[in-house]
Amino acid sequence: MYDFVIIGGGIVGMSTAMQLADRYPDTRILLVEKEKGPAYHQTGHNSGVIHAGVYYTPGSLKAKFCLEGNIATKRFCDEHGIKYDECGKLLVATNELEMERMRALWERTAANGLERHWLSAGELREREPNIVGLGGIFVPSSGIVSYAQVTAQMAKEFQKKGGIIEYDTEVVGLAELPDSIVIQTNRETYTTKYLVSCSGLMADRVVRMLGVEPGFTICPFRGEYYLLPPEHNRIVNHLIYPIPDPSMPFLGVHLTRMIDGTVTVGPNAVLAMKREGYKKSDVSLIDLAGMLSHKGIRKVLRDNLRPGLQEMKNSIFKGGYLKTVQKYCPSLSKEDLKPYPAGVRAQAVSNEGKLIDDFLFVNTARSVNVCNAPSPAATSAIPIGAYIVSKVGEQVGETFENISVQVPTVKVG
Ligand SMILES: Cc1cc2nc3c(=O)[nH]c(=O)nc-3n(C[C@H](O)[C@H](O)[C@H](O)COP(=O)(O)OP(=O)(O)OC[C@H]3O[C@@H](n4cnc5c(N)ncnc54)[C@H](O)[C@@H]3O)c2cc1C
Repeated sequence: MYDFVIIGGGIVGMSTAMQLADRYPDTRILLVEKEKGPAYHQTGHNSGVIHAGVYYTPGSLKAKFCLEGNIATKRFCDEHGIKYDECGKLLVATNELEMERMRALWERTAANGLERHWLSAGELREREPNIVGLGGIFVPSSGIVSYAQVTAQMAKEFQKKGGIIEYDTEVVGLAELPDSIVIQTNRETYTTKYLVSCSGLMADRVVRMLGVEPGFTICPFRGEYYLLPPEHNRIVNHLIYPIPDPSMPFLGVHLTRMIDGTVTVGPNAVLAMKREGYKKSDVSLIDLAGMLSHKGIRKVLRDNLRPGLQEMKNSIFKGGYLKTVQKYCPSLSKEDLKPYPAGVRAQAVSNEGKLIDDFLFVNTARSVNVCNAPSPAATSAIPIGAYIVSKVGEQVGETFENISVQVPTVKVG
C-alpha cells in the first residue's frame, strides 16, 4: 500500500511529487507515467517561457501562481544549475485598436503587481530594430528555460527523497474505497491512501474513472510552430508578443528566443482531431466522437467559427501564418519558416460551452485532480504543487502525526 500515488510525469505531477516527498519524508510515494520518460506531452512541447503574469485576471489562481512561479522557477534553476535567461518580454501594438487593448493590459499588469515600462514607437525601435509598432510594454521579469530539463531535475529530486517512478505505466481504472484507492494499470494494480492526478490531456478521463462526472471535457488545441534559420538567431533581443484579442484564450503567434539560442515563431491554436495528435494528419475517432458529442465543445466551435476557420486556414497556408508575424516583424519571409514540432494544449471546456480560464481542481475524499492547467502552468508548477500538497494535507488530517500543513487562503477557480 502506498501513502500517495501521483498520475502524470509532466511538470505539474513531478513538482507535486517532489514537494509531497519533502512534506511527508517517511511515506511511500509512487508516480506513474504512461510514457517512457518525463515531459512527453505539454511539458516537453511548449514555448519555454517563464511567464511574468501579464494577462491573468487579478485575484485568479493563474495571476497568483504565475507571479509566485516566475520567482520559484528561477530559484529552482539557480539551485540546480539549470540554464535560464531573464531576457524580458515586449508586447507590441501595431494599430489603434491594439493600442487601446494595450492600455487595458497596462492597467492589468499594475493590478498584478508587475514591473513594466511603457515604450513609444521610437523606444521600441531602439530596443528592437527589426520590430515595428506604434508602441509597446516591456516586462523585464519574463524569461526562457527548458521545462523538460526542469522536470527531469524534479524527478531526480523526488527519487533522491525516496520517491518511486514507474514509466510505461498507464492508469486504466480507479476505484475509491472508504480507506484507500485501487489503481489499475496496464502492468499491475496498486493501492494508495491518497491519489493526485496531473494527467493533462487526459484529466477528464481520470476523473471519470473515479466515478465523478467532472462537468467539463478536455478540448485539445494544437499549437504549431516554425523555426527561424540560424542567421536569424539574433533577430530579436527579447520575447516579442502581439497584443492579444481579449475574447480569445490564447496569446497569439509570438517570436520566442529559445534557451538553445534558436528563435521560434508560434504557436497558433488549431482544434486537434486527437488529444495527443501532434501532426495535422493525426485523427482519433474516439477523441473526435467525444468532442463532437459534447454540447459545450459544439457551442465553443459555433461561437468561434470565424477565428477558428481562420486559424485552420493559416495552419494550411504558410502565407497566412506568415502575415500574423509580419505585422510586427516585416522582414521575415516564407523561406524563413522552417518546420518545428507542434504542441497540444489541454483546454477544459465546461458543459455550458465556456473555455475554462482559471486553473481548476476537482477533489474527492481521497484524491486531488488537476483538471485545467493550461499556460502558464509550466511557469506555475511549483506553486501549483505546493497548493496540491496543502489540499492533500486537508484530506490527510491526522493520519500522519507531527506534520503541520499550511492551507493557502486562495479559493479554487
Ligand atoms: C504549445 C504550447 C505552448 C505553451 N507554452 C507555455 C509557456 O511558454 N510557458 C508556460 O508556462 N506554459 C506553457 N504552456 C503550458 C504548459 O506546457 C502546460 O500548462 C504544462 O506543461 C502542463 O503540465 P502537466 O504536467 O499538467 O501536463 P503534461 O505535461 O501534459 O503531463 C501530463 C502527463 O500525464 C500523463 N498521463 C495522462 N494520462 C495518464 C494515465 N492514464 N496514466 C499515466 N499517465 C498519464 C501523460 O502521459 C503526461 O506525461 C504551453 C503549452 C503548449 C501546448
